[in-house]
Amino acid sequence: MTHERARPLSAAAFERARRVLPGGVNSPVRAYGAVGGAPRFIAEGHGAWVRDLDGNEYVDLVGQWGPALLGHAHPAVVEAVQGAAARGLGFGAPTVAETELAEQIIARVPAVERVRFVSTGTEATMTAVRLARAATGRDLIVKFAGCYHGHVDSLLAAAGSGVATLGLPDSAGVSPAVTASTVVLPYNDSAAVARTFTEFGDRIAAVITEAAPANMGVVPPAPGFNRLLRDLTDRHGSMLILDEVLTGFRVSPGGWWGLEGLDEGWRPDLFTYGKVIGGGLPLAAIAGNASVLDLLAPAGPVYQAGTLSGNPLATAAGLATLRAADADAYARVRRAADHVARAVGDALSGAGVAHSIQRAGSLLSVAFRRAPVRDYDDARDQDLWRYPAFFHAMADAGVLLPPSGLEAWFLSAAHDDVALGRIAAALPGAARAAAD
Ligand code: PLP
Repeated sequence: MTHERARPLSAAAFERARRVLPGGVNSPVRAYGAVGGAPRFIAEGHGAWVRDLDGNEYVDLVGQWGPALLGHAHPAVVEAVQGAAARGLGFGAPTVAETELAEQIIARVPAVERVRFVSTGTEATMTAVRLARAATGRDLIVKFAGCYHGHVDSLLAAAGSGVATLGLPDSAGVSPAVTASTVVLPYNDSAAVARTFTEFGDRIAAVITEAAPANMGVVPPAPGFNRLLRDLTDRHGSMLILDEVLTGFRVSPGGWWGLEGLDEGWRPDLFTYGKVIGGGLPLAAIAGNASVLDLLAPAGPVYQAGTLSGNPLATAAGLATLRAADADAYARVRRAADHVARAVGDALSGAGVAHSIQRAGSLLSVAFRRAPVRDYDDARDQDLWRYPAFFHAMADAGVLLPPSGLEAWFLSAAHDDVALGRIAAALPGAARAAAD
């Protein structure tokens, strides 16, 4: 608790919040449990920058945990939301913007024929699992250790993200009867997947996987791994759910599938999306083949509904974001990620700190270990104790990293040379702090 004196307003706001919000926050990782100290309360953000209550300015690498592909308060997105708000905040009736957003998604991801909008990634994966069980009449779900799919009961088994940071293999309150139908396998382990299908193939409703995992740090799928999942699920009549809540419309116009499946000629049965497609507002989706999606009520027998689903402000923000996310924007995100990856590698090497720069497209994270991280065991087998000092040194130098060493660093199209320069200037000192 060494940093509160420099940020009295954030520290006071946290004390006040703790009296009325569990842990002072509405999502666990925001509480700085993994790095210590009081969280910075953010007053506003523009482009690559955020400002805290105390008036300190930072280059932001949290990026709203993914949605901020264009940076904060992008003018076209703000204008679209303001226009939608002036026309009414929600009607509980269809609007044309929902159809337009679905059409945008289908145009970018030709493997998609139908889209159902929900409000959070958690709802999307929960519904995808329900659909897969309904379509196959089977029960078992295969997931991978370290992959996070939201706080769905049946998927909170060896989940990554905040659960990894808290060191909880699971969550209290999740009935063992619910996770009993979830099979958890090591990521990137083709042999384990093949064995599981040999043993239980006719009972497996679906394999759910992050298209490129980023909730145990970034872990690129080994070449051919996603394809193998598609082949095995096909052969055994199971479904493949590609969770692109984090990667969708971030790593390319067509998400991770646009980088891999499109070229290789395979497609999952179901995609889940979130984050970028809501442009920063609560919006997520289940998408895929008409034959599966049309099982959803009212077209079919699988119940799913939502008071706020397809909310006009969220669809307006999503549409404006996708329209502004052109080839140039993706090139800028990629360039920024390449630049930061190089700079952090140089700084840590200079300070003699063992590290692995983890990349998957424009996704980036840093692991404090020499060998690349291939799965959740690797992710936990690193010098995570170095991260708090690194984090605080970066923050003191004006760069806000995710407050956990097991999260991705999010770049945006707004990370220009000035922002990248601030990051480059902060890194050598932070690398020295990590070395101590
Ligand atoms: N799936 C993935 C891959 C995610 O990264 C997340 C959130 O980080 C989710 C699902 C859950 O999304 P939400 O937090 O909107 O419920």
